Amino acid sequence: MSPIVPGDSVPVAERFRITQWLRLVTIGLVLVGEVLAPESLGPDRAELVPWTLALCVVALAAEGLSMLLPTRMVLFFGGMLMVDSVWLAWGAHLTGGTTSPLRYVMLLHLGAAALLASRGTGIKLALWYSLLLVMLHDAVSRGVIPETAPGTLTGTASPDQRLAIFIVMLWLVAISTSTLSAINERELRRRRGDLEALTNLAEQIERTDDSPSVARTLLDAAVSTFGFSRGVVLASAEGQLPLLASFGLDEETARRPGRPGPSSVVAKAHDQKGTVLVHGLNVETEPWLACLLPGALRLVVVPLSAEGRSLGALVVEHGGRSRIEPRVVSALERSASYAALALRNAWLLEQVRRLAATDGLTKIANRRTFEATLEREIARATRSAEHLSLVMVDIDHFKALNDSHGHQAGDEVLRNVAAALSCECRDFDTPARYGGEEFAVILPGCGPDEAYEIAERLRLSVSAAPASVPITASAGVATYPSHAGDADTLVRAADEALYASKHAGRDRTTVSMGVPPEAQVDALLRRAVIQRLGKAMSTESEDALAPSPRRVDN
Ligand code: GH3
Ligand code: MG
Ligand code: MG
Repeated sequence: MSPIVPGDSVPVAERFRITQWLRLVTIGLVLVGEVLAPESLGPDRAELVPWTLALCVVALAAEGLSMLLPTRMVLFFGGMLMVDSVWLAWGAHLTGGTTSPLRYVMLLHLGAAALLASRGTGIKLALWYSLLLVMLHDAVSRGVIPETAPGTLTGTASPDQRLAIFIVMLWLVAISTSTLSAINERELRRRRGDLEALTNLAEQIERTDDSPSVARTLLDAAVSTFGFSRGVVLASAEGQLPLLASFGLDEETARRPGRPGPSSVVAKAHDQKGTVLVHGLNVETEPWLACLLPGALRLVVVPLSAEGRSLGALVVEHGGRSRIEPRVVSALERSASYAALALRNAWLLEQVRRLAATDGLTKIANRRTFEATLEREIARATRSAEHLSLVMVDIDHFKALNDSHGHQAGDEVLRNVAAALSCECRDFDTPARYGGEEFAVILPGCGPDEAYEIAERLRLSVSAAPASVPITASAGVATYPSHAGDADTLVRAADEALYASKHAGRDRTTVSMGVPPEAQVDALLRRAVIQRLGKAMSTESEDALAPSPRRVDN
């Protein structure tokens, strides 16, 4: 008999302990009853005492063995339930067979076993009891075992009828308690499933650090746990709630721009600070959401909020199936509140990264981002054997401008220059503030022939930038690999070209003549050393990460 479902919520050792206590109480009651009221089970029941003491010895032996062999607990638990039934069946025979009052204890034992073990155990035990009782009854009627004096349960029915009625009662108790325990088990399993889903979601969210991945993880978890047909996550740090993740929507629909209106169910969920269940979407009040989820039926709208701030909503379609269970709603709410915190953290991280990468005054890339981007783009240009140009732009006589119009006017000019450069750039160019009033623009894929024209266009856009004070700018341009062999020498080449423009009278663009050959050689050597070092370090770290050879024990 294997009464325990693996992974049950109450450990089998604890269940065994409970049955041991019940066993001891029963043994105690029978013995005390025999001493204090010897006639209570009928006349002359002295044989019951050694039989009960035998059960006591077996129970104590099982207790000792279970401590020595804790891994075999299931065996002791199931085995002792069978020993109990043998003791009860023979005890009932000794105390009057079909008229023994011990038969009540059998029913109790069966019910307790079905509730404490699994639903299958009750049925198996009822079968075992039926077998034992029929065998005993048969043995008595054939004279193999002597008949005992009748017990206290007397009546007009024949022994055969009493046996049949009792077996029916046994099965009724087994089936009813097994059904009840099955309902409990199902509920427990569901709750455990919900809890596991939440734990998985938490683990997956731990591994994400950007808001779209958090939204995607939340939606995937909701869909895979409860089988929703469609769903969306609407969220943003600014409170406009665009679509951040979707499931079951075609690509074109998912790209449709929009946001929920003020009378939308999402706004209602936020106002109520709780989940809203809606039968369908009204196209008049929900034009965008109704477009995203056309013909949606039975929607669950769970608000996403952290620290009292509304961040968005999870909207899933339950469909035209059964009603939405409260258990599902509360599991979605728990997942949503966890995801909302993760979203807030992801946005904070994105904000910190943005701040660290941009220049505070001009809002374009700062020096750090410029250097990292230049290294990356040069590596890409090397791989794809393409050119890359760098333009350095410096505002002419900016100090004088500051002195005559004040620093605030100077700042304004810097902002306008940054905006003009950004406007003039292609999507994959990178304009950056190199420092002070000097700007740099990385132009991937731009060769020496077109570099001058682009640099001149950028420089003129700076001069033409709308400003209260008219300005001019000078520029220098250099191209990789024509003028320099790495990022440092490229900056140096473009800078030297810029200073050539300054020396030549400002307001012009100069193309680099290339860094001197010894600087090129230096750059090539430096790159070779860096590549070698990089390779060596990656091999070392691969070695460190590789599993050590397994020891073979002979
Ligand atoms: P040149 O034509 O040779 O480039 O002369 P310049 O005056 O532009 O160059 P210089 O290097 O002499 O002066 C740069 C000035 O830029 C000095 C500094 O006060 C000013 N500056 C640097 N950063 C800022 C800033 O963030 N805001 C303002 N308003 N001025 C700045
Ligand atoms: Mg200047
Ligand atoms: Mg300068």
